[in-house]
Amino acid sequence: MTAASAKSIVIAGGGAIGLTCALVLARAGYGVVLADPAARGANASGVAAGMLAPAFESVLDPASKGLFALLRAGRDAWLDLLPREAGRPTGLSQPGALWVPTASGISTDAMAESFNAIGAQFEIVTAAAAQVLSPGLDPKGAACLLTPEDCCLDVTVVTERLYQEALRLGVQVITASVTNFSPGTATLSDGRQIQADHLIIAAGLGRGMASLAPELACLSPIKGQILFFEGEGPRHGPAIRSAGGYVVARAAGAMVGATMEFGLEDLTPDGVIGERLRGTGVSLYPNLATATPQHWAGVRAATPDGLPLVGPSRAPGVILACGARRNGWLLAALVANTVAAQLSTEALDPFAAQMDPRRFDMA
Ligand SMILES: Cc1cc2nc3c(=O)[nH]c(=O)nc-3n(C[C@H](O)[C@H](O)[C@H](O)COP(=O)(O)OP(=O)(O)OC[C@H]3O[C@@H](n4cnc5c(N)ncnc54)[C@H](O)[C@@H]3O)c2cc1C
Repeated sequence: MTAASAKSIVIAGGGAIGLTCALVLARAGYGVVLADPAARGANASGVAAGMLAPAFESVLDPASKGLFALLRAGRDAWLDLLPREAGRPTGLSQPGALWVPTASGISTDAMAESFNAIGAQFEIVTAAAAQVLSPGLDPKGAACLLTPEDCCLDVTVVTERLYQEALRLGVQVITASVTNFSPGTATLSDGRQIQADHLIIAAGLGRGMASLAPELACLSPIKGQILFFEGEGPRHGPAIRSAGGYVVARAAGAMVGATMEFGLEDLTPDGVIGERLRGTGVSLYPNLATATPQHWAGVRAATPDGLPLVGPSRAPGVILACGARRNGWLLAALVANTVAAQLSTEALDPFAAQMDPRRFDMA
């Protein structure tokens, strides 16, 4: 990576995207201040399931249709970014993801056709083989589709490791919001003024920051609700995708999600939705019937085309890194690399144009 000539950067927002930007820029030699008024994990990133799912997202999410190559680049960017333990990336598990068909949803054969159409790897496995991959799963006798393309991050583990690594590299973390910026100076909510050549806005919806970057006006909220079964359900094995939702295995307990509630930005768990998600979890893992989950909500920021805003704002010195919708973890490392390339003389990768904030100027 090109030497950063000791430029100073303030990043507004310490979620998945702000944190990965902090780490990538600190590794590249920038002086980085990361400002966020919230506690670590008290944001959309902290409640997310952590799937890095280029294949299933390209097939199941209408806004991600045609984006398999970009999403796969997002997954691969993580392999370079994650700190390693015993040679393995920390917090990443790669047991793939499994489509479990239901009577009313997409059949395994139809899913296989969709995977063939995008060129994603998969194999069909029997119900018995699926149960070996994920003990406790009830595929109701149906053959399933297993893809090695998708994997998962344990977001709690990864957040902590990225944070510790950023601190070790000299990133200064401040509990405050960024309230103003002009090239040379960022102002924080506690009145402090920080010397900064650039402000990176990685603040999710960026509520209250519209005066700092006009492009933020195109973002809209999508509320997501999810259940966490602490100490229950699958702890390892593939992420389960199904017509009713998904189940993600984590060492601390399974997660069952998630809703896409367009236009909502409250964080109130809705009991009816909780029961529906619970029904999905129990139908796939009958042992969850007696468990009491925690019920969480988060708000994703979305652009009109579903891809994030990554690159220079019309406001001088401001770089945008926000609006990654339901794939913010998947895209965070790619977004951070793109921001680093924008700040240096490095060539931009072919996906940068698809995320360039200026794409909406032309509309
Ligand atoms: C239920 C649910 C499940 C999900 N599952 C997945 C998944 O499996 N895989 C995946 O890839 N994605 C998933 N997502 C999406 C993903 O969580 C988001 O896209 C991602 O977290 C966005 O990260 P972010 O850093 O942009 O925003 P956030 O995590 O929202 O962080 C933004 C931060 O900015 C701070 N901030 C706001 N204003 C300011 C300011 N003025 N100054 C400083 N800081 C400020 C906030 O306090 C906040 O901490 C899920 C989301 C939800 C809700």
